Amino acid sequence: MPNLPTKQIDKTIYGPVLSWRFGKSLGIDIIFEISTCSFNCIYCQLGQIQKVTLERKVYVSTEKIIDDLKEFLNQNIEFDVITFSGSGEPTLAENLGEAAAEIKKLCPNKSLQVLTNSTMLLMPEVQENLKIMDRVICKLDAATDKTLRQINRPAEGISLENIVEGIKSFKKSFKGILDIQMMFMPLNLSQIDDLANLLKEIQPANVQLNTPLRPYPMKWQRENRGNHLPEDLVETRQLKVITKQEAEFIEKTLRDKTGLNISSVYRE
Ligand code: SF4
Repeated sequence: MPNLPTKQIDKTIYGPVLSWRFGKSLGIDIIFEISTCSFNCIYCQLGQIQKVTLERKVYVSTEKIIDDLKEFLNQNIEFDVITFSGSGEPTLAENLGEAAAEIKKLCPNKSLQVLTNSTMLLMPEVQENLKIMDRVICKLDAATDKTLRQINRPAEGISLENIVEGIKSFKKSFKGILDIQMMFMPLNLSQIDDLANLLKEIQPANVQLNTPLRPYPMKWQRENRGNHLPEDLVETRQLKVITKQEAEFIEKTLRDKTGLNISSVYRE
């Protein structure tokens, strides 16, 4: 019998989730209590975000995260990388840097990474929290404020300029790998040229192209953090995705226009 994680519903550690990009990814949920984010993306795997906010605070204690991680590590389950993601935007957590430093002590040989929506990266304290990471994967789905509002539905005060300037500013001092992830839907298909121009300005190490293959859950439950398990299914709505041919066209166009290293969920 393979080793399987014990029930993780009351834990800040989840998975490992099998990721097309990172292999077996152990998730750290530093938001945890309810879904909380500075975006409310129309494709979010958490469903409708319960609290859309820019408030930075401690959402769950570092002590609980470390206790949960120690318990997980005692189960001797294999994983490849550790990823801050979970119930919302990790950079809203004031203790992100502190938790990352403690995790590094326990797992010094595992790559530590963050999936961020890039909205908080202009803040010096967020840049400071992130500098310990081996990889930061920044979301960029829109090339205009109108599309940003349509797809990502941000908290008031967030603009595309904030986001792009935040990524560029953070990249200047960051010693790890900075990647961009892009979610393609019919809504942003016409923006490939403008997105290519933004990528050329940013010069990420890698670009990961995605489309919402997972259905949108109609209500939040903590299990939505990882891969859906059959017993965890809630009512869902299928989203409009791009076709395989469109994905191939986007991948080729972005590669030709930017010369960057591009990977796609459809190809992996
Ligand atoms: S940024 Fe991530 S967590 Fe936040 S709403 Fe979008 S997909 Fe969900």
